[in-house]
Parts: sequence; structure tokens; C-alpha cells
Amino acid sequence: MELRICKVCGVEKELSPVFFSVTRGVWSERTCRACRKLANKVLEKSKPYLKTPEGTTRICGKCGETKLLVRDNFRVEKGYFKKNCRACTKSRKRRKSVDARRRIKKRYKAKYPEKIRAQKQTGLYYFKNLLAAGTKIKASQIPEELAEAKRMQIRILREIKSESSQR
Ligand SMILES: [Zn+2]
Ligand SMILES: [Zn+2]
Repeated sequence: MELRICKVCGVEKELSPVFFSVTRGVWSERTCRACRKLANKVLEKSKPYLKTPEGTTRICGKCGETKLLVRDNFRVEKGYFKKNCRACTKSRKRRKSVDARRRIKKRYKAKYPEKIRAQKQTGLYYFKNLLAAGTKIKASQIPEELAEAKRMQIRILREIKSESSQR
């Protein structure tokens, strides 16, 4: 096992990808990963773009609001402030999760088609079928209002029945 002394921390560490980075198969790095990481952090903090003069603003590319160009308002990526404000990038994420929910629903539909059919039966679909029965019209062609009317009719009939049975 080959060892190498890091020139920054002076600690002898195993010459492996865990402690030192390799570039094109050569162990060119004299600084260990931990030290490099730390150095990068310090460097990032000292970068001038992060010390924007007070009062510097940016118009968000999404909502168009003028906001202070600070880390609280804009995310920093690869040394630059993002075009859109944090609130807007957040809302885009939320929209993604809506898509995810839709995908889950779709998967559910594919997995349990009989459940979906049952749901449709309890909805207007059932009444559309009733109206379409014995005709040349397809259930899907029946207008919603008509199906709704049919539902009301059945409900009324049911109520009359239950009332007469109570007497
Ligand atoms: Zn080191
Ligand atoms: Zn915005």
C-alpha cells in the first residue's frame, strides 16, 4: 500500500481514490481530498460575486419581481446567481411533484383497471350507460346534464319508494 503525505495537513494517507483524486490515471494530487474540499469552501466564500455590494438587485426571470441579489433570494450555482428567485425555483419543484402524482395515478389506473371502472360506475358514467341502453347512442355521447337529470330522477324515485315503505 503506497502512502503519500498531504502537503497541506501533513498527514500520511493511503494513495487511493478515497483520499486523493486521480487525473488520467496519474496521482498528480499532492493535497488530500479533505484539504482540497476545505480550500474550495474558503475560496468560494472569498469570491467577489458573493460579496455583492449592498442594494444590488435582480429582476427574477420568472415572476419579474425585483429582489435583493443575496443568497437568501437567489440560489448560487457554479459561481453565479441563478436567473430565477428561490421562490420561483421552489414552485417549479412543486409542479414537478404534481406530475409525479399524475404518474402515480396513471400507474394505478394501469394496475387496477377494475377499480377505476367501479369508480366510473358510481359516477355519471353509470347513468349515461342507463340512458344509452337499448339505443344506438354510446354512453360516452350522452351529455353530462342528461346523465345528471337521470341521476336526479333515480334519486327521487328511490326517495318516494323509501317514503312509501315507511308508511
Ligand atoms: Zn490534507
Ligand atoms: Zn421569482
